[in-house]
Amino acid sequence: MSLNKGLIMRSTGSWYEVRAESGKVFDGRLKGKFKLKGPTTSNPIAVGDWVMFSMEDEVHQTVLIEEILPRTNYLIRKSVHKTAHGQMLAANVDQAIFVMTLKSPKTSLGFLDRFLVTAEAFRIPVHIVFNKMDLLDEEEQDQVFEYAALYQELGYGILFTSIPKNQGVDEFKAMFQGKVSLIAGHSGVGKSSLLNIVAPHLQIKTKEISDFAQKGVHTTTYSTMWELSAGTYLIDSPGINEMGIHEIEKEELAHYFPEMRALLGACKFNNCVHISEPACAVIKAVESGEIASSRYLSYLSIFENEDNRR
Ligand code: GDP
Ligand code: ZN
Repeated sequence: MSLNKGLIMRSTGSWYEVRAESGKVFDGRLKGKFKLKGPTTSNPIAVGDWVMFSMEDEVHQTVLIEEILPRTNYLIRKSVHKTAHGQMLAANVDQAIFVMTLKSPKTSLGFLDRFLVTAEAFRIPVHIVFNKMDLLDEEEQDQVFEYAALYQELGYGILFTSIPKNQGVDEFKAMFQGKVSLIAGHSGVGKSSLLNIVAPHLQIKTKEISDFAQKGVHTTTYSTMWELSAGTYLIDSPGINEMGIHEIEKEELAHYFPEMRALLGACKFNNCVHISEPACAVIKAVESGEIASSRYLSYLSIFENEDNRR
C-alpha cells in the first residue's frame, strides 16, 4: 500500500479535506489505529497539518490519514470551560497578520498586546497592518506612526494601508507570498476587503465568532485554509481573536513581552513578577520610559485577569 503526502485544508473534526501534492483534493478520515500525538484537543489534526494518507475507496475518492508529520508550531483555542478540551485552530503557521484601525472601529492597544502575547507564546511572527489610513486627520496619523514606531522597535512588521487610496496594497499582497499566514483583527477593520484585492477570485469573507460564542457558550467553529496562489496559503480561523492565554503561567508572562524578556536577568529577585518588588528592572525601565507605559498596562491587565478582554 502506498502512502502519499497531503495538506489539511479543512476539518470538521471527523472529516478532513486533504490536498495531495498533485493538487487533487480528497475527503479523508483518520485511520482507526491512528495514534494521537501532541496536546489533547477535541480535534487531533488541524488545518495546516501535513499528513501521510492512503486511498480508502477509489470510487468515492476517499482517503485514510495514517500519520501526521511533525509540526513547526500550532495554535490552540482553549475552552472557556476548564474541564473541556481546547480546539486546535491551525498548524505550521509561518506568520500572523493582525489588521487594526485607529477608528471605525477602534482597535485598542490592549487587544493588540493580548494577541501579540499569544503569538509569542506560540512562536509565530506577527505583522501589524494599520488599515483605513484615509480616515485619519494629521493628528491621528501621527498617533498611528507613534504606535508603529513602538511595535517596530519590538520586532513586529508594520504596514500602513488604505484601500480607497491604494496605499500599501501591493506590499500587503507581497507579504503573503510563499507563506502560510493567519489573519486576525476585529470585525470591520477591513480584512475581507484587503484579502479580496490579494485574491479576487476567492471572494473571501472572514469568519467571525458571534457575541453569543464569545460569552462562553460552547460552539465549535472550524478554520479554513485558502490557497491564494500556488504555494501561498491563508488560514481564516474564527477563533483566532480569542485564542486566550489561560495557559500562560503568570510567572512566565513577561517572557512574551520582548522588551521585558530582554531584562529578565536584571531584577533583584529571580522570581520577580514585576508588580511591586523592590529593585525590579522592568519597573525601572517603565519609569525611565524605556518600556512604554501602554505595554506595561497591558502586562498588568493580563497578569491580573487572564480572562479579561479589552
Ligand atoms: P472585516 O470584518 O475585517 O472583514 O472587514 P470588511 O472587509 O468587511 O470591511 C468593513 C468595512 O470597512 C467595509 O465597509 C469596507 O468597505 C470598509 N473598508 C475596508 N478597508 C477600508 C479602508 O482602507 N478605508 C476605508 N475608508 N474603508 C475601508
Ligand atoms: Zn522584575
